[in-house]
Amino acid sequence: MGIGLAVLLLVWASAARADKIILKNGRQIVAYNVTEDGDKVRYETSAGQLSIPKSIVDHIERGGMGPISESPAAAAAKLNLSPPPMEATANAAEIDQAAVHDGAIDRDYIARMEGEARTGNAKSNEKAALAHHAAAQFELAHGDLEHALSDERTAITYLPDQPVLLMNVAYLYLKKSEFKQSVEYLEKAKRFSPDNGDIYKLEGWAYYGMNRPDQAVMEWKKSLSLKPDSETQAALDKALRDKEEEENYKENESPHFQLKYNGTAQPVLAREVLRVLEMHFSAIESELNYTPPESIGVVLYTQQSFADITRAPGWVGALNDGRIRVPVQGLTGVNAELSRVLKHELTHSFIQQKTRGRAPTWIQEGVAQWMEGKRSDENAAALVQIYDGGEAAPLNHMEGSWMGLPSDVARYAYAWSLANIEYIVESDGMSDVQRILDRISAGSLTEDALKEVLHEDYGDLMRSTDEYLKKNYTH
Ligand SMILES: [Zn+2]
Repeated sequence: MGIGLAVLLLVWASAARADKIILKNGRQIVAYNVTEDGDKVRYETSAGQLSIPKSIVDHIERGGMGPISESPAAAAAKLNLSPPPMEATANAAEIDQAAVHDGAIDRDYIARMEGEARTGNAKSNEKAALAHHAAAQFELAHGDLEHALSDERTAITYLPDQPVLLMNVAYLYLKKSEFKQSVEYLEKAKRFSPDNGDIYKLEGWAYYGMNRPDQAVMEWKKSLSLKPDSETQAALDKALRDKEEEENYKENESPHFQLKYNGTAQPVLAREVLRVLEMHFSAIESELNYTPPESIGVVLYTQQSFADITRAPGWVGALNDGRIRVPVQGLTGVNAELSRVLKHELTHSFIQQKTRGRAPTWIQEGVAQWMEGKRSDENAAALVQIYDGGEAAPLNHMEGSWMGLPSDVARYAYAWSLANIEYIVESDGMSDVQRILDRISAGSLTEDALKEVLHEDYGDLMRSTDEYLKKNYTH
């Protein structure tokens, strides 16, 4: 394992600001604190400060590697859609203020508007719809998707032909990773507003989430023909890269999986992979007491096409961005290593679907490693040393994507995440992990979920994990 302690922590502190240096020969360097200094470009890596001649640098991309491994659900959650203005005859701003004021929703006001709407007057119906819409927007802004959806759907009962309301419902379903419902509402919205690019943009994401990239590509192309949008363009480019690669792929499926594999891989390997995946599916299903409703996409790659398509950093062996992507170069059957990798990535799919993309990376990676059979023995001494030296990175720094991390920092993050989950499972069983995931799924912040289930905040959890490691692995 060999974690370089001092250097590691130095890099860790600035990990959030990972930059990417793109060289003229196409090579990329992920680095920290990239500065231009005369005819040199200086940067920090885990090996210390380095410099290269500016003449070989094409450009520098600031702020990390982007959402390479982001799932469709997570990507949809970040969509920045500004709905077109509603053609309201009533005074929309006035209703907004009456429905939501002093940091709360005025349910009495909304009830009055609903009472007036019972007269069947068109204007009253519109007021009731706008009042519920305002409430939904407020709830959405506070992360309360369930109530936002409920209010927005009630709004539609008063104004069933309003595309903006239909789009808002579709958007909320998308955020909840309920893709079929999202498509249903977007199709309705199209009937009333066939030239609105945002509808096609959202529908592209919904199909992408349903693992139907062909349909997603069609929707995004249509969206771009109506309205230029850099997010949609980036999503389309990625989907087209996937599609181009996968066109020569063969397909196979089993009850819970849709598998694609390159023509050079053996059909017997594909069948074997599906058999092993189904076996792991049953095991994880009973450990987490959960069955993912959506079928899970799996793609087997040769090594080179994996790197080309995923654009992941070199330390990534396999990944899960909504589909399980695994390089299988040279394999003719499933060996122990591949079986472990499959179980690890499959665990991510379970947690992804169970929490609708809300689980932080440290829980994802901790549980995935636990499931694949890893334990903390080889890392315990190094982790204890880091923690006791007061230099452990806090857990809230491990919630977001790790894709921009240098390999040694990533190793540390993996080791610490496993140790936390191992401590939780060994102390009180997998049921605690289930309960934490349930709360995250219901919208709790991770640290609040820990407080409710373990009665520990992040600091307490790290201390307990440190004690656990000392007790079980060091003398
Ligand atoms: Zn993982």
